[in-house]
Amino acid sequence: MAAAPLGDDVFGDDPSVNALQEKIAALLGFEAALFVPTGTQSNLCGVLSHCQRGDEYIVGQMQHCYRWEGGGAAVFGSVQPQPLDHQPDGSLALAHIEAAIKPDDPHFARSRLLALENTLGGKVLPFAYLQQATALAKAKCLATHLDGARLFNAAVAQAAANGSDARSEARRIAGLFDSVSVCFSKGLGAPVGSALCGSRDLIARARRIRKMAGGAMRQSGLLAAAATYALEHQVERLAQDHALARRLAEGLAGIEGLQVEPPHTNILFVELVGPARERSAGLLQHLAQQGVLATGLYRLRFVTHLDVDAAGVDRAVAAIRSFFRT
Ligand SMILES: *Cc1c(COP(=O)(O)O)cnc(C)c1O
Repeated sequence: MAAAPLGDDVFGDDPSVNALQEKIAALLGFEAALFVPTGTQSNLCGVLSHCQRGDEYIVGQMQHCYRWEGGGAAVFGSVQPQPLDHQPDGSLALAHIEAAIKPDDPHFARSRLLALENTLGGKVLPFAYLQQATALAKAKCLATHLDGARLFNAAVAQAAANGSDARSEARRIAGLFDSVSVCFSKGLGAPVGSALCGSRDLIARARRIRKMAGGAMRQSGLLAAAATYALEHQVERLAQDHALARRLAEGLAGIEGLQVEPPHTNILFVELVGPARERSAGLLQHLAQQGVLATGLYRLRFVTHLDVDAAGVDRAVAAIRSFFRT
C-alpha cells in the first residue's frame, strides 16, 4: 500500500485504481469495473445504473441489497423493490419471479431488473439455477445484477465440487449477469473496498452515481493496492475458511440444544432449541469474554475468515461446550 503509485481517481488517473479495475473486470469477463468504498454503494450504483425512477427490481427478502442497505435504492433512486421469499436453498422460485414481472401498464412500476446474491448467507446457489433464472430474466427483457460480495466463496466451493479452479468458476458465474458487485473486504481480507463490474456504458452511469453518493475518492490507489493484493493472494485461501467452518460445525455437533446447519462456505448458522434458547444472551456474553464473536440471538451466526485459525475454532468449540456444561 505504501509503495502504490497514486493519482486522483476523481479524474480517473490513479494508476493503482485503474490497474485494479482492469484486473477485476478481466478476471470476471467484463468490459469495465468501478472501485467503490463499500459493497452497499456498489449495489446502489448497480441498481441505479440499471433502473430509472419508477422502475422496480425483483429481489429476495433476505438479500443484502433489499434488506440490509437502508432501502437505498428506494431512498436515493426512487426504485421500488419487489421482494420475494426464498426457497430453502436460497433461490427465488422461477415461477415466483415470472409472476412478479409486471405487464406494461400504468398501474404498475416497470419491472426492470432481477437481482440475485451468491453466496446468500453463505449458501452457494446452484449454477444450473443461476442459468435458468438469468435466462428467464433475459427472455422477459429484465437486466440482471449479482450481489457477489461473497462471489469468490461461491466460486471456491463450486470449484472444489467439480474439480475446476476458483477463478474460472467465478468468471463462469459472473458471465451470466449484466453486472456483478464483489467485495474485497470480506473473505478476501482487504481493509476497504468493492468493485462493480459491467459494460462500459453501465460503468459510465455508475461512475456518475458513485460521485453523487460521495464515493469518488482522490488518492484511493492506496486502498486499491490492498484490494489488488487480496485478489492476487487470498482467493484460493478461502478453501481454508470453508474447512474451518466445517471443523466448527463438527465440533458443535451433538451439543444438546444446538441445531447446526451444515455450512456450504465460511458462514455457520446454529439454531438454539429448547431450554438452550433461554440462555442465548448469556452464551453470547460468555463467548465475547473468551474472545469469540458471533451475532444473532436464537440463530447464531459464526464466520470464519483470514484472521481465524484452527486453534481459534477449537477455542470457540471449547467455550461453547463449557457454557452448556454449567
Ligand atoms: C457485506 C455485504 C454487502 C455490503 O458490503 P459493505 O461493504 O458492508 O457495505 C453486500 N452484500 C453482501 C452479500 C454482503 O455480504
